[in-house]
Amino acid sequence: MPTSLSNCSQLQLLSLFGNNFDGPVHNEIGRLRNLQTLEIGYNHFTGIIPQEIGNLVNLMDLNMENNQITGSIPISIFNISSLQSLLLWGNNLSGILPRDIGNLTKMQFLNLKKNRFTGEVPKDIRNLVELEEFDVGFNSFSGSLPVEIFNISRLRTIQLSDNNLSGTLPPNIGSTLPDIEILYLASLTNLVGTIPHSISNCSKLTDLELSDNKLSGLIPISLGYLTHLNFLNLWGNNLTSDSFLSFLASLTNCRNLNFLSLSFNPLNAMLPVSVGNFSKSLVKFYAAVCNINGQIPNEVGNLSSLLDLDLSNNNFIGSIPTSTSNLRNLQRLYLNNNKLTGFIGDNLCKLQHLGAIYLGQNQLSGSLPDCLGNVTSLREIHMYSNKFSSNIPTSLGNLKDLMVLNLSSNNMVGSLPPEIGYLKAVTYMDLSMNQFTNGIPREIGGLQNLEILSLRHNKLQGSIPDSFSNMVSLGYLDISHNNISGTIPMSLEKLQYLKYFNVSVNKLYGEIPSGGPFKNLSSQFFISNEALCGLSRFSVPPCPTSSRHRSNRKRLLLLFLLLGIALVLVPIAFLFLWIRYRRGKRSPQRADSLSNTTAERISYYELLHATDSLSESNLIGSGSFGSVYKGVLRSETAIAVKVFNLQLEAAFKSFDTECEVLRSLRHRNLVKVITSCSNLDFKALVLEYMPNGSLEKYLYSHNYFLDIRQRLSIMTDVACALEYLHHGCSLPVIHCDVKPSNVLLDENMVAHLSDFGISKLLGEDESDLYTKTLATFGYIAPEYGLDGLVSIKCDVYSYGIMLLETFTRRKPSEFEGDLNLKQWVSYSLPEAVMNVIDANLVTPMDHRLQKKLDVVASIMKVALDCCVESPATRTNMKDVVGMLQKIKIQLLAC
Ligand code: ATP
Repeated sequence: MPTSLSNCSQLQLLSLFGNNFDGPVHNEIGRLRNLQTLEIGYNHFTGIIPQEIGNLVNLMDLNMENNQITGSIPISIFNISSLQSLLLWGNNLSGILPRDIGNLTKMQFLNLKKNRFTGEVPKDIRNLVELEEFDVGFNSFSGSLPVEIFNISRLRTIQLSDNNLSGTLPPNIGSTLPDIEILYLASLTNLVGTIPHSISNCSKLTDLELSDNKLSGLIPISLGYLTHLNFLNLWGNNLTSDSFLSFLASLTNCRNLNFLSLSFNPLNAMLPVSVGNFSKSLVKFYAAVCNINGQIPNEVGNLSSLLDLDLSNNNFIGSIPTSTSNLRNLQRLYLNNNKLTGFIGDNLCKLQHLGAIYLGQNQLSGSLPDCLGNVTSLREIHMYSNKFSSNIPTSLGNLKDLMVLNLSSNNMVGSLPPEIGYLKAVTYMDLSMNQFTNGIPREIGGLQNLEILSLRHNKLQGSIPDSFSNMVSLGYLDISHNNISGTIPMSLEKLQYLKYFNVSVNKLYGEIPSGGPFKNLSSQFFISNEALCGLSRFSVPPCPTSSRHRSNRKRLLLLFLLLGIALVLVPIAFLFLWIRYRRGKRSPQRADSLSNTTAERISYYELLHATDSLSESNLIGSGSFGSVYKGVLRSETAIAVKVFNLQLEAAFKSFDTECEVLRSLRHRNLVKVITSCSNLDFKALVLEYMPNGSLEKYLYSHNYFLDIRQRLSIMTDVACALEYLHHGCSLPVIHCDVKPSNVLLDENMVAHLSDFGISKLLGEDESDLYTKTLATFGYIAPEYGLDGLVSIKCDVYSYGIMLLETFTRRKPSEFEGDLNLKQWVSYSLPEAVMNVIDANLVTPMDHRLQKKLDVVASIMKVALDCCVESPATRTNMKDVVGMLQKIKIQLLAC
């Protein structure tokens, strides 16, 4: 914030709302004594709120929401008696809310949501008689529920969710809060008792959020009197209903009802036909795990606006109503874990927006409809554990965006159609425990995103297709308990992520590969085959020497052939290099080849042409050593050109280091260097362009969001890159600057590690070295920061910090004093992950909440293993990759 502003002493309104200002809020602000409105929300301000703010004695509106402000609220604020609106939500404020809050008697809007306040909500809050909005949700307030709040009759919004509060709802709530519109009391530590009947007198109520509490007793039928009700969430309580029929019938008066969740309550009832009379505006209806019996009424089909319908984990019998075909907007259908019978029919095929269909654990039978392949919006099909008995319709191959296909534990028959090879987006495919016959189509090898494939317990024959080696993402492959014969293709040694490979109980013979992922596979995976042989650690006999002899003869032949070729090619190569050397002398502005064998040649002039002469409009961003520009080559390839600032001596070194290191590296998760360009006064690297920018952008910009799966996948990519640098290169490479801004995302959101400007190559027999170059504060390992001693373990430490940051959305630099990101997380593990997880990743009404929290807790445990103080006991990237792969499987399973 410009300090010169403080000279504008007559200023009454200062609004810097929604910009990119950063740095601390200057204490000079206190000189703007005439200020009535100060709005600096939605910026990147850091530091504390200066005490001098208390000098703004005329201030009415103070808006600092959504910044990164720390510390406590300065006590001087509570002397500004004119304050009507105090909006501080979405910062890192901590400490208690002092009793002096009671001085602000003109206060109308008080919003402190999403901070880290602790202590009790002071009773003096009762003095704020003008209050219309009181929002302190998502903090760590403790003690008893501040009942004083419920006596402030002007209140329209109360938000106390996600605090450690205990108590009961006041019985007279209906008379004391006549104007209340929004009441959010979700996820309190101990909210007990019943929902008072008087709540139905709060006739203006639009949102009632009571999920994830310990409320018990009957759901008041009178909730149906709340005719403005739009959002009703009772998820996760212990509520019952003696007359579910009357309750639902009364809710049909709520013509604006948009969201209704009753899930995880022991309702013990039937779903009445009156469900069909619900408001046409209902878009989300959840009644999972409610012990509901009987049939799903056909009238459900009247809810034509529904996007989500969740009736899973109940005792529904009968068939899926044919009327579901009327739910034309439906995106997610959860009917799994019931006792549904009958055929699916063609009804679901009419749902052209359906993204996920969960029908697992029922008794559905017959065939999968052919028309399912027309529902091209489908991303997930879960139909496991039923009695389907057809073959897989070839039309499923049309589902280009399908990511999950789970048909396991059915009675499905016939061959696996080659068309499943068209499911290019699929990451999880489970066709196990069926009766599939014939060979495995080699087209499956085209599924480059597939991470988990299970075909176990079928009647498959033929051999393992060689094309399996193209499934580059495969981590889990189970083809056990089939009739598969032939040998295990040696090419599978290429599958670097493969951690689970079970071919037991088949008819395989020949040598078990021993390289690549096979180095770490258990012998159990190979038992009960016809004649497998190989290394003793697989508990199989050694392969017959004759076959060894044969292969040795082959090797010898190959050696001679290679020698012959080398004899012819080496002189040609020398000649070629000599000609290039002569040409290079004549035209110094030609791009250097980074690696003589692979790099493209791009002239300096083509670089200028590609980047519109390094124009400002093509500038992507600048780092410590120079600037990066976007460009497009004549071949239409998009490139990023990193031009080093030669005014900086360190930039020369950085360019040389980056060239030297990248010359020998090649990995799917490293940013590819196309070539370099160097002459006396220009040095640039031409890099593969990463259209989705950096992980940092995705974590902190408000327009972007990554879910748990995407974050895990990105972090696994980075772990693989580091595993390669540390353990997969002839000489280990230390990156030295692992942080979110150096993780770039390509068009498929695959992560690539970039910026090798300060990296280090370790010599043979060298495991660490000393350096004076410092990496980025917050990510540096203790031994690097204190002594300048770098080893691959420094990267492991930085990676751990970045992993914590990715799932908490807290930068290490945000922490001050004795507390750091690592300690903050470790204090909350394993029980209180909810306190540290990025709040955007979970919603309290998510019925997979606990499973997700378990996954994130496991990830954070890995991260803390990476951040162990002593490098000697710190984990390594090999183990990290293995652990993350397992967690990925755990996540997919939930
Ligand atoms: P520092 O060098 O101080 O660590 P930095 O990592 O941001 O900072 P650079 O690596 O020079 O510095 O990158 C500058 C900007 O260019 C960053 O915003 C980065 O996301 C972007 N960038 C770098 N390489 C590419 C690329 N290959 N494709 C797209 N954007 C890139």
